[in-house]
Amino acid sequence: MKILCVLYDDPSTGMPESYALNSLPKIDKYPDGMTLPSPKNIDFNPGELLGCVSGELGLRKFLEEQGHTLVVTSDKDTEGCQADKELVDSDIVISQPFWPYYLTRKRIESAPNLKMAITAGIGSDHVDLQAAMDNKVDVVEVTYCNSRSVAEHIVMMILSLVRDYHNQHAIAKSGGWNIADAVKRSYDVEGMHIGTVAAGRIGLDALRKMKPFDTHLHYFDRHRLPDSVEKELNLTYHEDLDSMLKICDVVTINCPLHPETEHLFNDERISKMKKGAYIVNTARGKICDKDAVARAIQSGQLSGYAGDVWFPQPAPNDHVWRDMPNNGMTPHTSGTSLSAQARYAAGVREILECFFDGTNIRDQYLIVKDGNLAGMGAHSYSKGSSTEGSEEATKYKK
Ligand code: NAD
Repeated sequence: MKILCVLYDDPSTGMPESYALNSLPKIDKYPDGMTLPSPKNIDFNPGELLGCVSGELGLRKFLEEQGHTLVVTSDKDTEGCQADKELVDSDIVISQPFWPYYLTRKRIESAPNLKMAITAGIGSDHVDLQAAMDNKVDVVEVTYCNSRSVAEHIVMMILSLVRDYHNQHAIAKSGGWNIADAVKRSYDVEGMHIGTVAAGRIGLDALRKMKPFDTHLHYFDRHRLPDSVEKELNLTYHEDLDSMLKICDVVTINCPLHPETEHLFNDERISKMKKGAYIVNTARGKICDKDAVARAIQSGQLSGYAGDVWFPQPAPNDHVWRDMPNNGMTPHTSGTSLSAQARYAAGVREILECFFDGTNIRDQYLIVKDGNLAGMGAHSYSKGSSTEGSEEATKYKK
């Protein structure tokens, strides 16, 4: 079989010769008891860069020993790009949300042999899920592999926005010492109302991690959490998103991108938020209308915006979030720490082993199966597609 793997570029200085840490902490299980990816074997050292082209997710030896062909490229957006050329006779495509190969309907229909699209990470909105259903292409992801990595990033971003860390660091770095400049937008998180849009694996973990800061916690989700969890965290559940937005000082967005959530945060919704609130969005860029966010930052309706997700990706060099005031944006990194890479590389290997052995892929990993939303897809997505506009990724220039 032919496996096409679209990964981000290697470091500009070449692959690292050594790493900051010699090993990763050992984690046995996720908080709900789900086991970590458990392939029969791995051919990489956990803690190494695996998500870039030379890292190859550690798959080459395994695939080639079984007689399969592995093609790895980062060239994914332009007309005539290598990914498009290789896709036409590929059986499986692997792509990462950080550097998504947008599997639009046109691309899916250009690949008659395509059987499965694997997301090396979580969030499969870069695949036109409706076209995948229509063409019987299964879509799977490595559920939970980086959910907690993202929750850590959320905590970092909430604290850095509210305390105005970026401004203070810039002052220190540039040799300055004007304390008043450094603190004139700086607050404590303690006592604030923090709300998450969706309390799935990431949203719930972010709430848990914010609890020790003595904050008031809120959530909105299409599925209600068990009573015991609401009690443990003293959570306020909101059936209506706007009722949560009007009281929260910080809103963190943690739902997948699908037709129900696309541009959920537009001018109208942001106008219903508490004046001066902060948004942290590590879910997907397109859940927010980028220009509406920029306008709200300019007017002061929002005090700050941070996140690591953009639309499309890579974001055009002149994307308005790159230099709007009071932003704490990073490129899409939260779910691809070296720790997370080890988990999703192992998860992809587990999925491929199951596929080649003809055994069941874990139900939790399924988004689309046999022409329908399945597993986590049925729980967390809606039918349709959110890939429209992804061709703008060609605007990015290295
Ligand atoms: P999850 O499936 O455990 O949780 C998703 C939650 O969203 C579910 O509780 C679901 O009920 C809720 N939801 C879905 N649609 C909704 C709607 N219309 N209204 C309200 N709630 C809705 O997934 P997760 O692990 O928590 O990940 C969530 C998302 O975060 C992913 O789909 C992905 O887009 C994003 N993510 C980003 C990164 C990153 O690196 N930045 C990494 C992993 C995941």
